[in-house]
Amino acid sequence: MLKTVEITTKKRIEFIDVTSIVRQAVTESSVRDGICVVYVPHTTCGITINEHADPDVVRDIIYQLEKIVPESGSYNHIEGNSDAHIKASMIGSSESIIISDSKLMLGVWQGIFLCEFDGPRKRYLYIKTLEG
Ligand code: ZN
Repeated sequence: MLKTVEITTKKRIEFIDVTSIVRQAVTESSVRDGICVVYVPHTTCGITINEHADPDVVRDIIYQLEKIVPESGSYNHIEGNSDAHIKASMIGSSESIIISDSKLMLGVWQGIFLCEFDGPRKRYLYIKTLEG
């Protein structure tokens, strides 16, 4: 099953916790044992799995990404959002999560985030579930 979810981001850089959206898609899919692929078809946003219990973790990740890849720099790309492209490549555009007994095998502290680097924008989140 493939589920497409539209997400409207509100800031230039923000991480949106999509864990409950992905869990819901897994429930709807009726896959008992398999794989869930979470993917974004964009070049300036990404997907990551990290701690969603303490929001300071996401704040620290964003803070450090901004230090490593600042918004302005000696970039060539005419659109002016090279930092967002670089950050998106660092994070990656998908994650795969094992489904066991109809549940995502996420750790207690893990959450799935859509990482916006050039918002606000309308984004698409693809969730593909496979039995096997
Ligand atoms: Zn661009």
